[in-house]
Amino acid sequence: MGCESSERGKAFNEIQARALVLNSSYEPLKVVNWQKALILWFQDKVEIIEVHDAFARSVYNRFQLPSVIRLKKYVRIREHPKIRFSRENVYIRDGHRCQYCMRKFHPKDLTLDHVVPASRGGCKDWTNIVTACRPCNQEKANQTLDEAQINLRRLPFEPKWLPSLRLSISPIDAPDEWLTFLKREA
Ligand SMILES: [Zn+2]
Repeated sequence: MGCESSERGKAFNEIQARALVLNSSYEPLKVVNWQKALILWFQDKVEIIEVHDAFARSVYNRFQLPSVIRLKKYVRIREHPKIRFSRENVYIRDGHRCQYCMRKFHPKDLTLDHVVPASRGGCKDWTNIVTACRPCNQEKANQTLDEAQINLRRLPFEPKWLPSLRLSISPIDAPDEWLTFLKREA
């Protein structure tokens, strides 16, 4: 299709230039490379929702690379498989953000916290375990939310799907403009 190179002198990262594909219902479906994203757009199969700050050029034109595209026609997808409860999957569900201070951390700086402490009968499952940074975890310790006077921004839940499983990306690598759409389903 003739889009051979990026804007001269402003090479873009192939990985960062990928596009998130949404169903017509805005549900995230998959990630495609920028070439595929442009082809879908040329074929009039998608509308562009967000763009990257990067361009591909052909002989006569240059195209701003799509970052988020939405299918014009709804695609039916299979039922979601049950997602295994694990440390990594809890981190992914929570977008690698401590659910108390909402700051984003590298996995090595994160811990799992029982919302209702285990000593008070809290279960280790999707609805009682949240991602927490170490300082927040220590501050909360063995207390309930009320006792620790900490707020939880969002109640923990069992996810129907995770970006890493469906899209093979971690939210920590995803461009900011994707997160709105990735969270929509979470
Ligand atoms: Zn925190």
